[in-house]
Amino acid sequence: MAESDVVMVCTVCRFVLDVEWSEDGVRYLHTRADAAQDLDHDPVPIDAPHGFRGGRCDFCFDGIPAFILPARDFLYPDDRSQASSGDWAACQDCAALIARNKWLKVIERVAATHIRHTGHSLPPAARTQLQIRYRALRRNITGPLCAIPPLRETGNNDPA
Ligand SMILES: [Zn+2]
Ligand SMILES: [Zn+2]
Repeated sequence: MAESDVVMVCTVCRFVLDVEWSEDGVRYLHTRADAAQDLDHDPVPIDAPHGFRGGRCDFCFDGIPAFILPARDFLYPDDRSQASSGDWAACQDCAALIARNKWLKVIERVAATHIRHTGHSLPPAARTQLQIRYRALRRNITGPLCAIPPLRETGNNDPA
């Protein structure tokens, strides 16, 4: 595997890290987008384990994925040129709501993230779109929420 194919993630926040090459070697940094949200730690890079799910919660777009909701691929009913592909990742808080079938509360979480990031409330059309998409998702769920195992630090300096 080429070095550039290695995905490094931060053990603390589970975000995928940017690579910066310099004369001193390679450094792994939080992406600008991630650093913009006041991360309170320096990156702690590790190789992404097989099956790692990086990025954010697929529901609120904010939390760190803690669960996988297994789902079939499906076309979004509101726009059949777009498809949902594979499983959805859910953060702890969204997963707790999904497990209790509180889908409207999940939409409230999306709305709260939207306000936090843009300063504007979620437009009613976007809210309706989410309702349609979550309803379609529910028809395509193939199993229960499944916890993602925590990342473990495996630094190269560890005695084996
Ligand atoms: Zn981090
Ligand atoms: Zn979430």
